[in-house]
Amino acid sequence: MNVEDLFGSFLSRLNQRLMAFPETSDATTLPAADPDQSYLLYLHVPYCMSLCPFCSFHRVRFDHDSATGYFKSLRHEVRLHEDLGYHFDELYVGGGTPTVLPAELFRTISEVRERHAITSVSVETNPDHLRPDSLQLLQDAGVNRLSVGVQSFDDELLQAMHRYEAYGSGAETAQRLKQASGRFDTLNVDMIFNLPQQTAVSLRRDLDILLDDVGADQVSFYPLMASETTRALMSRTMGAPGSTHERKFYEMIVERMLSAGYQRASAWCFSRAAGMLDEYIIDHDEYVGLGSGAFSYVGGSLYASAFAIQQYVRMVESGSSGTVNRRVLSERDQMRYYLLMRLFGGSLHKNQAEAHFNGKFQQKLWPELAALKSVGAIRHKGEALQLTERGYYLWVILMREFFGGINTLREQVRRDTVQEQPALRARE
Ligand code: SF4
Repeated sequence: MNVEDLFGSFLSRLNQRLMAFPETSDATTLPAADPDQSYLLYLHVPYCMSLCPFCSFHRVRFDHDSATGYFKSLRHEVRLHEDLGYHFDELYVGGGTPTVLPAELFRTISEVRERHAITSVSVETNPDHLRPDSLQLLQDAGVNRLSVGVQSFDDELLQAMHRYEAYGSGAETAQRLKQASGRFDTLNVDMIFNLPQQTAVSLRRDLDILLDDVGADQVSFYPLMASETTRALMSRTMGAPGSTHERKFYEMIVERMLSAGYQRASAWCFSRAAGMLDEYIIDHDEYVGLGSGAFSYVGGSLYASAFAIQQYVRMVESGSSGTVNRRVLSERDQMRYYLLMRLFGGSLHKNQAEAHFNGKFQQKLWPELAALKSVGAIRHKGEALQLTERGYYLWVILMREFFGGINTLREQVRRDTVQEQPALRARE
């Protein structure tokens, strides 16, 4: 077993610890807010027009009536958390595809902005929604950052991913992205590398289109994250996932993005300027996630909301939050989580970490820090702990495992959702 595999399996165990939620689905609630703090608000919209075989996010096939009622519950749940004293300063709407009902999304963002001093709004979407009317509505709603799930411009890969018919060809997507460019502070493009059947030639062409044609402000290049269920589904549709090309492809991406003048914003995100990231967990110590299947991290605990959409709606409409699960992290696990997230962004300020953990951060985490140093993943530079070039790739593995742990958790509870929507299983 090489260092990468060892690292992956160690981190897999760490993730299982962090994400070991007790088995309960009783209603619970977030603690009262710290009155001196503003929080990032994440809203989850789990509807998609088509379900991609590689995806483990919490998503279901779009249904107009269900989605309309869901947005109403989402707005209600935000108000319930205002009663707990929460003030929000940033808003991130993710999914699924939040733009499935543009008018409902507009109303939801507007309501949050009316009652909170929101400084930035980020929304995820798909290429088929990059229409002039939808883009105008998003601009009118105050969206600063639009994140578009493209995954690849290669038509053969898009067909294998079932995205060609649903979201358009690579050329159509590139054209739509160019039209959307300049309308928002940040236009982010989400891509995937290490897809089954993806070749170096195909990846190089994707990079050419991104850099020479589209000129995106920000590109997030995710490694393929296969869970048990998606692995089986992919084997039947796109081909079996593996890790043979992962490192080589990552190095190709880094070399190309950095030489084109992009800066690393995280281990897999490259930006031309400072801006919000898909991984808001990097620079937010605490965040509130509302909506079915959303996670929150507040007061040293992780909270999960009901994945079954009808259960979520029933809970919120009866005046309870949609939160059903809480995982209390020990002080040491809180430190590990902090280390994981901060270094995903490339560096950690030791003074800030010590201030956050009452001067005990390095004293308690010395075994982890020593191990990371011994494999050449981190270096001390003045007051900062920084990822080395090797560390960046190890962190890609690490975060792949971290999100894989979340995906596994999602799958465990997803059965409830499928039982509610039997058609989903047949179509997957
Ligand atoms: S990849 Fe995006 S569009 Fe495809 S199922 Fe997942 S959330 Fe929906």
